Amino acid sequence: MKVVYLTRKAEFSASHYYHNPAFSLEENQRIFGKCNNPNGHGHNYTLEVTVKGEVDQRSGFVVDLKDLKETMNREVLDAMDHRFLNKEVPEFKTAIPTTENLAIAIWKRLEGKLKVARLHRVRVHETTDLFVDVYGD
Ligand SMILES: [Zn+2]
Repeated sequence: MKVVYLTRKAEFSASHYYHNPAFSLEENQRIFGKCNNPNGHGHNYTLEVTVKGEVDQRSGFVVDLKDLKETMNREVLDAMDHRFLNKEVPEFKTAIPTTENLAIAIWKRLEGKLKVARLHRVRVHETTDLFVDVYGD
């Protein structure tokens, strides 16, 4: 049986800033530059979630599309859209909300939540020029 990959996109907007309390003020400013401004700045993120599996011969689908959409909405968009990531999303109370950490947090939120297909890749675009991929092991 052929394994197929299906990707669903979603967009969300969120603000963040980069700051590590273990660094001095100068280190934070040197390492994070403008992104260290505690008042934050926003991004329009694009999320791509790819699932993989075999096509169900009866339905012709690899995943329940409604389930995938609802899971992405519930686990990611409801928690992160129009939020200040540092202050409103628990993962970023300790981790710096870089695109790297955002992609990992989204992977962990989605992993094991889909009923049929398996999670293959989480891709988060911070801008049109920059994106991060996380894959399962
Ligand atoms: Zn930023």
